[in-house]
Amino acid sequence: MAKFIYECIDCGKQYPDSEVTYVCPVCSRDQKPMRSLLGVLKVLYDYDGLRKKLDVERLRRRRAVGLWRYHEIFPVFEKGSIPQLMTGPTPLRSARRLRTALGQNGLYLKDDTGLPTGSFKDRASVLVAARANEEKRDVIVAASTGNAASSIAGMCASIGKKCVVFCPESAPAAKLAQMAVYGARLFPVKGTYDDAFEVSLAATKEFGWLSRNTAYNPMTIEGKKSVALEIWEDLKFTAPDKVLIPTGDGVILAGVAKGFEDLKKLGLIEKEPQLIAVQAEGSQAIAKAFHSGTDDVAPYPNAATVADSICVQAPRNGRWALKALRGTKGSCVTVSDDEILSAIALIGRTEGVFAEPAAAATVAALKKMVGENAVSPDETVVALITGSGLKDVPAASKAARIPEPIEPAIEAVKRLL
Ligand SMILES: [Zn+2]
Repeated sequence: MAKFIYECIDCGKQYPDSEVTYVCPVCSRDQKPMRSLLGVLKVLYDYDGLRKKLDVERLRRRRAVGLWRYHEIFPVFEKGSIPQLMTGPTPLRSARRLRTALGQNGLYLKDDTGLPTGSFKDRASVLVAARANEEKRDVIVAASTGNAASSIAGMCASIGKKCVVFCPESAPAAKLAQMAVYGARLFPVKGTYDDAFEVSLAATKEFGWLSRNTAYNPMTIEGKKSVALEIWEDLKFTAPDKVLIPTGDGVILAGVAKGFEDLKKLGLIEKEPQLIAVQAEGSQAIAKAFHSGTDDVAPYPNAATVADSICVQAPRNGRWALKALRGTKGSCVTVSDDEILSAIALIGRTEGVFAEPAAAATVAALKKMVGENAVSPDETVVALITGSGLKDVPAASKAARIPEPIEPAIEAVKRLL
């Protein structure tokens, strides 16, 4: 059989790689603007055949890092296709001081702040770029709240491909500057992320560029699963009890779910962890749908939160996100902007990790869950820290006060101590 095929998450129809690039051609006919995508595709492998080839002993002996470490379960064919910008796993920090502060003994932080462009989104971009190399595509286009676009811009720069990005004009300045420095053709859009998404799809169709739009391109979900594989390895080849995931479009959530699903199909874990979607109170479309029991995610009008990376009116991967939450007996937790800002300071002063608002939301949510006894103190809980605080310094400045300047004299210091 071919190395991989696609399966539509809505109708179950399967497609060979050569037949589709983005969404299920049948289901997507009914697509309406500003709704969750219909016909998102899942990548499937020959799991029965792979059970004999991919086991713990082989992985222990394997020296390859990054995507190639698990090349049997990624849709790449040549090691050389993978951009060198992305190497190695990120740290799984046993956050001892934060454990004490929260009263959660089994807490780990999966710290993605050190990825090449400073965010988790590099996990998706590296696979999209590898596929672009293998398919000889020259231009990649993306819509983004900021991190995905700066990520694909950096990845494209590293392999000499053209990159076109659409972002809300309100995206944090650091992210916009990053895209410009990486040499992307940047279109700040007078509107929201959702508006940028729609215009980028129109550009994809008009100019034939390769879209990196999240969920629309199935490689974005498949790439993000690498985080689950790394967590599993670092926890001595076991799955945690819970994973807390910042959730806007629902693509990181689906990526984490897919990683653990693959491990289960390969017989490498017995049970998938419960997935906890963390949303901002001001942008909680998936939480609303989850709690009302529907499969259809209604847009959350005028979404607004300090956590720009998860500020989404119409979650594009809402349908898969809901399936993953229900399938793992997970839940949705919403947190306020004030809770997010205080979590930024808490993570910083206890662990020396500088998180952007969306990333800190997971720790804010855990604090809330501990307070509500929604998690027992000894459960193994992984909080994803998906982006660096340097990406949004104005937000960080709201989280911790910067003092007024002093006269350069010891007396001035003594007065304040
Ligand atoms: Zn379908």
